[in-house]
Amino acid sequence: MLEILPVGEVQYFWLEYLRYELEEYFGDVTISPPIEVPLSFNERGQVLADHLLDYLNNYPACAEKVLAVINRDITVRGVDYIFGLAALGGRCAVISPVRLREVYYNRECDYELFLERLLKEALHELGHTLGLTHCSNESCNMKFSSTVYEIDRKSILFCDDCLNTVFGYAKSQDTKIYAANGEGDKNLMRTILDRLKKIQKRK
Ligand SMILES: [Zn+2]
Ligand SMILES: [Zn+2]
Repeated sequence: MLEILPVGEVQYFWLEYLRYELEEYFGDVTISPPIEVPLSFNERGQVLADHLLDYLNNYPACAEKVLAVINRDITVRGVDYIFGLAALGGRCAVISPVRLREVYYNRECDYELFLERLLKEALHELGHTLGLTHCSNESCNMKFSSTVYEIDRKSILFCDDCLNTVFGYAKSQDTKIYAANGEGDKNLMRTILDRLKKIQKRK
């Protein structure tokens, strides 16, 4: 189960779109009402995404994975900006749609392209929560992207190596989570793997 969590005001249609698309991977996807949380900013007025993730890790969610969406420019110390952030194997991921929009670069609005980037970025960050690190395969969604061009160049899908890692990760998590939390997370992993397998077949 996946919870989409708007932090502050976020266009509902974007969230609905993510829910619709991510259901294919995660099965049960819910959209929570927007929450207001204390944000930390850097000197350029950007939200520090790692602080936000730290805060969200203590947020009482019932879903196994949480995708936070914040409509503000985000970054971490030492870089100009980021599109999203997640802890490896963690519960929460955060994405920012701000720099995924063509209008941000003073180009003509391209809504379809924006939604594609939004979904790609969501899956990329959720990939990190599933234990995936950055991938060197040019077409794999787990390839690191520092610009929207790089996002556009890669595919929305995970490469076979990454899928194998998810399989391995799920397997290693299986026994551990099973012992600690009962069936819940185990079922989540099964669902994700089933969906990923189906998607991979369609490729
Ligand atoms: Zn990444
Ligand atoms: Zn890959």
